[in-house]
Amino acid sequence: MAARALGAARRRGHARARGPCRGCHTSAAHAGPTRREVMKRVLIVGAGPAGAALAYILASRGVPVHLLERQRDFSREFRGEGFQPSGQDVLRQMGLGARFDALPSVRMAAVSVWRGSRKLLSVDVPEQARDNTVRIVSQPALLEMLVEEAGRFPHFRLERGVAVRDVVREGGRVVGVRVERDGHEEELRADFVIGTDGRNSVLRRKAGLHEDRTPQSFDILWCKVPVPAFWRPGEAEIHATTLGGLCLAFPSYDGMLQLGWSMRKGKFKELRGLGVEAWVEALSRAVRPELGAHLLAHRGAVSHPFLLDVICDRLVHWTAPGLLLIGDAAHPMSPVGGQGVNVALRDALVAANHLFPVLAAEGSPEALDAAAARVQGERLPEVSDIQTIQTRQARFLVGTGLLPRLMLAALPLLDKLGATRNFAVGGDRRFRGVLRPLRLAV
Ligand SMILES: Cc1cc2nc3c(=O)[nH]c(=O)nc-3n(C[C@H](O)[C@H](O)[C@H](O)COP(=O)(O)OP(=O)(O)OC[C@H]3O[C@@H](n4cnc5c(N)ncnc54)[C@H](O)[C@@H]3O)c2cc1C
Repeated sequence: MAARALGAARRRGHARARGPCRGCHTSAAHAGPTRREVMKRVLIVGAGPAGAALAYILASRGVPVHLLERQRDFSREFRGEGFQPSGQDVLRQMGLGARFDALPSVRMAAVSVWRGSRKLLSVDVPEQARDNTVRIVSQPALLEMLVEEAGRFPHFRLERGVAVRDVVREGGRVVGVRVERDGHEEELRADFVIGTDGRNSVLRRKAGLHEDRTPQSFDILWCKVPVPAFWRPGEAEIHATTLGGLCLAFPSYDGMLQLGWSMRKGKFKELRGLGVEAWVEALSRAVRPELGAHLLAHRGAVSHPFLLDVICDRLVHWTAPGLLLIGDAAHPMSPVGGQGVNVALRDALVAANHLFPVLAAEGSPEALDAAAARVQGERLPEVSDIQTIQTRQARFLVGTGLLPRLMLAALPLLDKLGATRNFAVGGDRRFRGVLRPLRLAV
């Protein structure tokens, strides 16, 4: 970063620290210690939920933030849309609750489980609990909202269409990144680099950080079809398909029905050769007849088909000198239980809590590295618990084995006994049970 630009950022930080908070429209942004001059400059790579949320928190507190995103349009990158209460809570703590509530979304109102034409279980979310349950939210709209809010602060800069290719090191420390912009390569420097570049993170690879792999047995085929007229608003259906594996179907924010068909790894290779219409036909025979007929009638109107190669890994070290990775870049999440977006947002909050005080105090490089290590220390137990539950629950998604079969057979009885009442409220209780308390403290 040129000295001139850093000087300007410093002057802007100083003005922001002394004057009224221009554009700061939330009480959360005013909470915490008195602001002081902020000089350390941060580069964040990847404007997914983790990067955009962290950029907003830091920029709103006066830290000069440069956010790089390889896509020009957020809808180009397919991501999860299921927001748990835990992710919603982070956005509310950031003071963005009202804006989040205004995004295109669907609130989950009921869940049913089917085998063929037989409904094994049906749970309604009580009306009064619907504000605190899973929501299907447009991610492009969420990310646009976050960068728009961050853009109210003079210290924030977003560049789209810039792909990071490598890290820049000096004396063993990461001091910036090498980017490709309009076909040209150049270096960008900063006091600290944060990698939020997702499950195939370039920064992870280039920094030589290694992961603990947990082999996964299944993949998920995602696609959308128009919502059937007979669909109950806000209902998610889970189908134990006759082909093995589950098919999850729920209404999305865009008036379409999102389907997620889990299958053992490798099976899709057999289906792919047949073409989209043929695998939709195969699926239509494997779910309840009304849904099957709808799929058949709309097999020419399938949109967004996407095979998710399921991974669920964690880096041994989320940091290197000058660098911190969070979100999927540090721990690619399995889609089981719709946790990834929420975990990424929670990472961002914790990263802000640890990094901001050091950035604001113009801490030494070593102090920044120590703060980054504390982020991993605080987040690792929760992330690892969630991944353990995801891996356990994955057995049910491929539907093989005695336990999943017994569980399905027992569902009607469990339902009668009332043991499944909390199933749909506030997300899965097992995931909620491992969440650590989080407060945005800066
Ligand atoms: C098909 C699918 C369904 C899912 N369903 C759910 C769900 O329902 N609920 C849920 O909570 N989670 C779900 N997940 C997981 C969730 O999407 C991720 O865990 C979450 O998006 C991680 O957030 P992130 O900010 O860490 O990374 P990402 O959302 O992956 O964002 C990374 C960003 O970095 C950018 N980027 C990547 N490389 C570079 C580069 N070299 N230079 C510049 N920019 C770069 C990308 O364009 C992207 O914008 C799903 C994931 C997939 C793929």
